Amino acid sequence: MTTLRVIDIIDGTSVDGTGLRTSIYFAGCSHQCPGCHNPSTWDFNAGRDMTIDQLIEHIIDNDFNVTFSGGDPLYQLEPLTELARRIKSVGKTIWCYTGFVFEDLVADKKYAELLSLIDVLVDGPYIQSLRDPDLPFRGSSNQRIIEIGAKEERMKNKR
Ligand code: SF4
Repeated sequence: MTTLRVIDIIDGTSVDGTGLRTSIYFAGCSHQCPGCHNPSTWDFNAGRDMTIDQLIEHIIDNDFNVTFSGGDPLYQLEPLTELARRIKSVGKTIWCYTGFVFEDLVADKKYAELLSLIDVLVDGPYIQSLRDPDLPFRGSSNQRIIEIGAKEERMKNKR
């Protein structure tokens, strides 16, 4: 049975994207950004295993759109992609936080399906010297809120 390692789930939060969302905090991160808000999430064994069915049931019960956070959810790429597919099939939007940079993800085919399922990506490592507490939904000014569909359309038009 496919599982994901989950540290916590917060329902109805307004700080991880627009509207009220179910935020799932996935275990594990190797970016090691100095000043990271929560280094305890770096441990890939933190938290507990949850099946995709359990996560979907939780999401449907609470009926919010969904945010993937962590840690960095992209380290659990295969099951995360399957989860994203299931979330989209029940009509929810997905925001995803990652320490990776969008252009690097686009250049690597292994992320293609996940990117096609995510509505909004908040990308890039946290950079302490660029910290800005006034920025909505992100910690430092290098991080971008990318509406993936719109961005891909712009990139296509440039080719
Ligand atoms: S990517 Fe996020 S969780 Fe990972 S070290 Fe950087 S700030 Fe912390």
